[in-house]
Amino acid sequence: MSVQKIENIAENLCSLDDLPALPRVALRILEKIKNPDTSMNQLAEILATDPPLSAKVLNVVNSPFFGLSNKITNLPHAVNLLGEESLKYIALSFSLVQLFKKNQNQMDYSRFWKESLVCAVVSRLIAKQVNPDDAEDLYLLGLLHNIGTLILAQSQPRQYAMVIKKVEAEAMLMHHAESEIFGCSHMEIGAFLLNQWGFPESFTIPVSYHHNQEEPGIKDSKLLVRIRIIHLATEIFSFLYEKDQALRLAMIKDLLDQYEMAGQLRLEALMDQACRQINPLLPFFDIEQDSAMDYLKILEESKKELFHLSFDLTRKVRQQNEKIFKLTRLAYKDSLTGLPNFQSFQEAMDREMSAIERYGHTSVLAMMDIDHFKVINDVHGHAAGDQVLQEVGRFFSENIRGSDMIARYGGEEFVLILSRTKVDEGMQIIKRLQENLGRLMIDYRGKKLSVNMSVGITEICQNTPLIKSQLLWQADQALYLAKNAGRNRCIVWHTQ
Ligand code: GH3
Ligand code: MG
Ligand code: MG
Repeated sequence: MSVQKIENIAENLCSLDDLPALPRVALRILEKIKNPDTSMNQLAEILATDPPLSAKVLNVVNSPFFGLSNKITNLPHAVNLLGEESLKYIALSFSLVQLFKKNQNQMDYSRFWKESLVCAVVSRLIAKQVNPDDAEDLYLLGLLHNIGTLILAQSQPRQYAMVIKKVEAEAMLMHHAESEIFGCSHMEIGAFLLNQWGFPESFTIPVSYHHNQEEPGIKDSKLLVRIRIIHLATEIFSFLYEKDQALRLAMIKDLLDQYEMAGQLRLEALMDQACRQINPLLPFFDIEQDSAMDYLKILEESKKELFHLSFDLTRKVRQQNEKIFKLTRLAYKDSLTGLPNFQSFQEAMDREMSAIERYGHTSVLAMMDIDHFKVINDVHGHAAGDQVLQEVGRFFSENIRGSDMIARYGGEEFVLILSRTKVDEGMQIIKRLQENLGRLMIDYRGKKLSVNMSVGITEICQNTPLIKSQLLWQADQALYLAKNAGRNRCIVWHTQ
């Protein structure tokens, strides 16, 4: 989607002036992110202008998030020990959470920020193992990846309620429902907002693609890893806080393989660290702590469940395959007669022509049409006609050779491929079939019905054009001649 289009949509949704403005401290921190080379006053000095913020940052510094063994009592010390890189994002996250908490509507902000914070912490932990230099940026990305949701929910609460309804009623993905209702999703809106705030592409691109992990346009492997880490973090959040944990765990393991991270990431250690870091962090953001949630226990139980589930899944997959197999077979069968249908015939014809091309044998194609069939319908009714078609179908299946192929071509027309058969022999076979069909007595509600058929045949061999439409036309022409010559006969197609 073009930037211009998103801008238009964003402007329609909420005037640009309505977009939340960042507090001064946050802006100055962002300056540093935008332009890493510009020198910035000591972070400690910037933070000092906002004492409540400084106090919160110090609390986080002393929480298990940083895992320091000694208590740090002032910010300059913290900056020296941890570096600006780590601290600026912590400071920024307070500003952001505050900024959006001020506006009140039905949106569950606490839940939103909890998810964002868990994703931030988990993304940072994953990055520490996969790409340590990127860890702090990933914290911020985790925190911000869904920020577009807030913009949409805040500026268009009524429409947003429709999105949620759609997701529930139609089991749709959130971003698809948003795109249907707003014209773009929280991903694009989020990227747009970050762009307005001056974030570089290394942030806006992962935000705009975080649900499209395999976005083919993204060639930059560092960006791709960022997107994948965010994706994993969101799945880990769902594993920890939502239902179907065993399935979610299976999905996470699958993603780790797919992203080739299984070797680098130890899931147990990751969960363990995440659990130690998240809970103490929540109250600093005025988010309720989880009541004695034992992440490792969840993991253990899910693994056990997964073990049983794998048998269950194998069974389900097998059942599914059987269903697909049956459906596929149905798609190739004519529902009235149970014979192969037009589509099957087309494929059988292709196979026969390839075989002839390869092995050089001769086969016969016969086009067969019941004579005056309409009369049966007219005199005895459509149901009688149906029964006749069914019995003729059964007659064919019982009277042709195993190597031949019969199909209902449509209406009261049938096609027959007599494989590895010369035209004279084919003629004999058809005549026998015609005679026997003529003798067949079909009982319809006590009335005896009988039918004849006219047939046109053509030879298929390496000397004839191996073009399906041409061969069908030839057989059809011969059938036409058989009808004109008085019906109930078989005519061979000849070139002249
Ligand atoms: P001809 O000897 O020239 O082939 O005459 P015909 O009456 O057999 O051919 P025509 O094409 O005039 O009519 C075919 C009839 O077959 C018309 C159509 O309603 C009927 N028909 C086609 N499909 C079905 C079906 O599935 N069930 C029934 N009962 N009738 C069908
Ligand atoms: Mg007919
Ligand atoms: Mg017909």
